[in-house]
Amino acid sequence: MTIITFSDHSLEPSWQGQLQNAVRDPGQLADILGIEVEDIDTGFPLLVPRSYLARMKSGDPQDPLLRQVLPVGTELLKQPGYSTDPVAEQSIKGPRGLIQKYCGRVLIVTTGSCAVNCRYCFRRHYPYDSQRLSRDDWQALYEHIAGDCSITEVILSGGDPLMLNDRTLSSVTSELAAIPHLTTIRFHTRLPVVIPDRICDALLEWVDACSKQLVFVTHINHPNELDDSLSHALLLLKASGSTVLNQSVLLKGVNDDAAILTGLSRKLFSAGVLPYYLHLLDPVQGAGHFDVDERAGKHLIRQMSAGLPGYLVPKLAREVPDAPAKQVLIG
Ligand code: SF4
Repeated sequence: MTIITFSDHSLEPSWQGQLQNAVRDPGQLADILGIEVEDIDTGFPLLVPRSYLARMKSGDPQDPLLRQVLPVGTELLKQPGYSTDPVAEQSIKGPRGLIQKYCGRVLIVTTGSCAVNCRYCFRRHYPYDSQRLSRDDWQALYEHIAGDCSITEVILSGGDPLMLNDRTLSSVTSELAAIPHLTTIRFHTRLPVVIPDRICDALLEWVDACSKQLVFVTHINHPNELDDSLSHALLLLKASGSTVLNQSVLLKGVNDDAAILTGLSRKLFSAGVLPYYLHLLDPVQGAGHFDVDERAGKHLIRQMSAGLPGYLVPKLAREVPDAPAKQVLIG
């Protein structure tokens, strides 16, 4: 008789298999967690992998992980000051897929796909379809970056850049690594948070082969997200020589509590990750119920500072449309 243990990774589906098997139906999610959910069409559907679902508490409709992914009726309320383009990036002109807001850095919207649909996402209304990158578009991006010596860092964003397969990512990082004035390639990702198996051997191979400094910024918002498998994945990434940082979004009813944020910082550090930014919510239509105001955010940072070494206290920041840099409020 074969005994299957939890740690027998060869018997678990690949990250792509887990993605295919993600829960997309609110009724199914309700059955799995033993809760009631609203029957609502927000235009931004439910998408949650089962490995993330497994970290939620059954029978608790207020679970902080559940609140991040469950569509609710309040998303349909139109609130003043909230827009479909909260950081004004849709009017930025440049090559397809490229956003340059800050000096020396450019961001590439690599894909519109994600492994999870986060209800607070500032790009939940982004016109990804009109920005899809063809092979020629990628070539034009490489040429643009190679032709501008002021660019030292490329940020791969999305969607989630780790949704690209490892063959594509290996090719993209090789092309970028061939540009002499680039020093750093940065990834902003939530995929390993919801499917830790995304940090697989094939990913570690191109990470290891890349000659530039690689920075991974994970998007972890709550300590319950950081279970043993995610910690293990993050430690593997760190051991590859990459810098691993975390940024969180301050979300009402999820992490607007000093003890929770302090616990998150401590757990991140145990997994080899330094907290970087705590973002105030970008005012995106549909997410107003998550808003925590600046005063409360500053108070939380002061409370965290009283119990943590400075390197574990994230900077409280907000994105200001058309500003030359992110606005750091405290930290
Ligand atoms: S993973 Fe990131 S880009 Fe995708 S929905 Fe969540 S916050 Fe938005």
